[in-house]
Amino acid sequence: MTSSSPSSGLLFIVSAPSGAGKTSLVRALLECDPGLSLSISCTTRPPRAGEQDGVHYHFLDRAAFDEALAAGAFLEYAQVFDHLYGTRAADVIHYLDKGSDLLLEIDWQGARQVRARFPEAISIFILPPTLEELERRLRERRTDSSETIARRMAQAHAELAHWTEYDYLVVNDRFEAALAALHAIVTAARHRVAVQRQRLKTLLAAIDAA
Ligand code: GDP
Ligand code: ADP
Ligand code: 5GP
Repeated sequence: MTSSSPSSGLLFIVSAPSGAGKTSLVRALLECDPGLSLSISCTTRPPRAGEQDGVHYHFLDRAAFDEALAAGAFLEYAQVFDHLYGTRAADVIHYLDKGSDLLLEIDWQGARQVRARFPEAISIFILPPTLEELERRLRERRTDSSETIARRMAQAHAELAHWTEYDYLVVNDRFEAALAALHAIVTAARHRVAVQRQRLKTLLAAIDAA
């Protein structure tokens, strides 16, 4: 696979330590931006209460994940906490080839792998306002055991250290402000000349011919 063609959709990467609010923000962003699709990752993590297979993740057992990995199905994959997470290459290619903008909600290890394949991907890192607030949100979410929360907090420090690798930083303090910033980044990316050159081909050709 090569990098995306000039006429393809835009690829956005969103990363954050667990609990920073990326899932809530991404869900809200998709609601206010119908032109954006979310890639559904594969994971060996068991579903949380309320999570549905094929909606939140494709939940695979370890054997099925390994089989997909051996078949070269993943654009990127990584171990996060005790589980494997991966993005199916075919899904990404499908969206980009039909010109849709696609968002990947993946960790920093995966983000590195995606950038290597798609250097033009636009990456956004979401920060919690404070480390104390990050821990509070993990507890309030009530989806994980206290042991899991402690491990996720320990991991958060390592994940946070990777903010330097991203194009944009958004602090999720006031939710609506963070959402507006995310939306602005997506909108600005779509208006770059390199992108508009393809999307406004007819108009620009008419202007150039006049
Ligand atoms: P949450 O972030 O606390 O809601 O926990 P999740 O279980 O949803 O995600 C765990 C970690 O896996 C996060 O760092 C995600 O960014 C990462 N992740 C999710 N999907 C993918 C994927 O397809 N590929 C990679 N590399 N990481 C993923
Ligand atoms: P992540 O996907 O990064 O692990 P979530 O989207 O699950 O994070 O958010 C973690 C918890 O924090 C959830 O309970 C969510 O409702 C809450 N949350 C998200 N953003 C904010 C915010 N700006 N202020 C307060 N709570 C928030
Ligand atoms: P959770 O288990 O809380 O749903 O997710 C934990 C972490 O895994 C999150 O930081 C999330 O972004 C990351 N993650 C989810 N899916 C993928 C994926 O497909 N690839 C990678 N690299 N990370 C993922």
